[in-house]
Formats: sequence, C-alpha cells, structure tokens
Amino acid sequence: MAASLAEDAQAKGINYFLMSFTDLFGVVRSKLVPRAAIDDIAAEGAGFAGFAAYLDMSPADPDLLAMPDLTRMAQLPWKAETAWVPCDIEMEGKRVEQAPRATLQRLITAAAEAGYSFKTGVEPEFFLLSPEGTGLSDAGDIRGKPCYDQQALMRRYPVITEICDAMLELGWEPYQNDHEDANGQFEMNWGFTDPLTTADRHNFFKFMVKTIAESHGFRATFMPKPMPNLTGNGCHVHLSVWNRAGKRNLMPGGGELGLSDLAYHAIGGLLSRAKDMALITNPVVNSYKRINSPVTLSGATWSPNTVTYGGNNRTHMIRIPGDNRIEVRLADGAANPYLLQAAVIAAALDGIQSRTPPGKRLDIDMYTEGHKVRAAPRLPLNMLDAIRGFEKSKFTRAAFGDEFHAAFTKLKMSEWNEYMRYFSDWERENALDV
Ligand SMILES: [Mg+2]
Repeated sequence: MAASLAEDAQAKGINYFLMSFTDLFGVVRSKLVPRAAIDDIAAEGAGFAGFAAYLDMSPADPDLLAMPDLTRMAQLPWKAETAWVPCDIEMEGKRVEQAPRATLQRLITAAAEAGYSFKTGVEPEFFLLSPEGTGLSDAGDIRGKPCYDQQALMRRYPVITEICDAMLELGWEPYQNDHEDANGQFEMNWGFTDPLTTADRHNFFKFMVKTIAESHGFRATFMPKPMPNLTGNGCHVHLSVWNRAGKRNLMPGGGELGLSDLAYHAIGGLLSRAKDMALITNPVVNSYKRINSPVTLSGATWSPNTVTYGGNNRTHMIRIPGDNRIEVRLADGAANPYLLQAAVIAAALDGIQSRTPPGKRLDIDMYTEGHKVRAAPRLPLNMLDAIRGFEKSKFTRAAFGDEFHAAFTKLKMSEWNEYMRYFSDWERENALDV
C-alpha cells in the first residue's frame, strides 16, 4: 500500500502544508494545514469563503474548496518543515472557471488541441525598499546609471544569494542575478519551461522574495512604478512555440532574422491583441505610470509606449533576441502570474491560427524616433482605457471564457471606481483657484 501523505511528509520533515490559491487580483490565499490533517484535507479540499477573495463571489455562496496539485508541492527552502501546495479551486464539485490557474490550464489545453505547446520564462524585476516601503533600503545606491552596479549588488549579497540558493535547491536552474536600471532594483533569472510551471514558479518567486527580504529587514516590491522618477518593475516574458509534444521548437525558420512564418504570426497575434489584453499584462492604476512614462533618471524607461516590434532592440513592445524565441516586454510586476501566461498563449495562438501578419519590423530607437512613426498603435493611457478595451473585445471573451471575462471586468471596474473616489492633493492644487 502506498504511504499516506502524512507518512510521506514525516519522512521529508514536513509538519505543515500551505494550501494555496491565487485570486483574480493575484493575491495568494492560503490555509496552513498540520500534517496530521493533510490526508483528509487533500481528499476533501481546504475550505474557504469565496467572497473573501477577489473572485466575484457572493457571501451566500457555499464553501470554495482548494484541491491540491501535489505534483507541484515545494518545500520552503527557508522553512523546510512547511510545504507550499498550489491548489485548484472548486465549488459544489465543479471547477471555478474564472480562477486564474484554471484559466491558464484551459488555454494550455486549447493550444494542445491546435497542435502546439508553449515554453516560457519570466523576468520579474523588484525593488528592495525600507521596511515601510516608502524609500530605498540602501542610502549608498545613488548612481545615475545604476544598472549592473557591482558595488550596489554586492551590498545586497546576503539577500540575493539566499534567494538564488533557494532557487538552486528547488531545481529551477537559476543562472544570473543583477542590479537593474533603477536604484534599489534587482532581477534574478531562472530557466524557461512549460507555462503552468513558469506561472507556479513566478507566483512562488514573489512570495519567496518578499519573505526573504523581510527576514533581512527590507521590503521587496514588484509594484510597476514604485518611484516616480526611476525605471519601473517590468515582467518580460520570453516565449517560444513548440509542437504538441514539446520536442521541436517551431520558432526558427527561413524568414527575417531566422524566424519561421509561425513565429511571425505569433508576433502578429501578440501585437494585434495587446490593447485588448493590457488589463491583464498591466492590471493596476499604477501600471500606466510605467508604460507611457516620461524618460527616467537613468535615461530610458525600458518599457514600451507603442505596439511595435523590432529586432534585438529593447525600445519596442516585442524584441527578437534570436531565432529561438521572442520577448514580450509589455507586462509589469503587478501581472497575475497565471493570467500573464494565459494572455501570451491566447494572443500568440490566435495569431498563429489566424495567420496574423505582424506588419513591418522597426529598426529604430522608439524612445527618440517614435514620434516619426505615425501608424504605431498606442497602448492604453490608463486603467479605464484598458478595462474598456478588455470588456468590448470579442477576442478576450472567447479566449478567456464568459465567467472569467465577466468576473474580471466587474472587479477591475469596481477597483477603478474606488480609485476615482480617492481625492488627491494634485486636484486641490490644480483646481482650488480655478
Ligand atoms: Mg530587466
């Protein structure tokens, strides 16, 4: 007879399980279950009140049950007696269709049915701030161009290496860490893989970075633009399309820059759906202070203003770094890890199936010469534009499903309305004497 979960856990030194799901706003919700109860909870699900999370549920709804995906359990490297378990959520025996992890799994299935699989990697940038989150943690980090600054990187060696050691232990194949383009900003890179694993890791990475930073007396943030004059937190996605079995990369081919027609159709899909999807890639009010931003102290924002692509050129929404993949530079640190993967798959798959032409590649510095390109579509200027784009798009409704589309639009509109009720000093300063 197979060992029970509890027996297996005892052998691994696990005393507690974090039964975890992620809601529509990317908030990670958990229950901490002791080993003695894990076999029952794993079979029956951990119970939650759905209304208490951002899922568009009612207080009258029955229990939401989080069912563990035990194949993806991870023992916390900094607290090995606890294991994190991503869960899928159900209500009355049915999958909650608007749940982000379920939404991503539907898109992965849709891609497989069309004969494709995807491999992705993410680059979630973050800041290390003071504990209250209002200033940088390192008073010495003042260089005008701080990117790759060895001195500033090494002052945060204990935090960065603790996170990197954890990734090594988890088997993520991390390969580089650096100080990024804003004072106080860092990036850590690990290997690419299938989109569900990437999403689970991205989700876990945010939890891990925040936790380890806290233990060192800092506050980590993935907020898109935490400092008005500094470069924001991007979350670039590297993406390749493979055959269904995931054995053959379909990106290389005989076209420009060594890419296949299929790769260009994927680019076409990502470009043509960018405005519809901005609510997912750039989901909060603050996101629109990163894209469309004026130039930062370092000299470049590193974020796109327009829906364009170039070769190995970081001033466009899509970069082609080689013949094996593309980089989508639009998303920011607020993007829900599951919905971000769902969005890039949905848009790229749509481009492939519709054979969407990507238009002409622009080999220019979009930051300095962008004004010369009259036809380049602009990204939404604010969250309301993004909500409207998402809401009226037939594509987003079809790709994400009615339940997700309705729930996400409703909750984001109520978030926007809440923001509009906020009375700022700027308003008083600019309207008091009208
Ligand atoms: Mg970066």
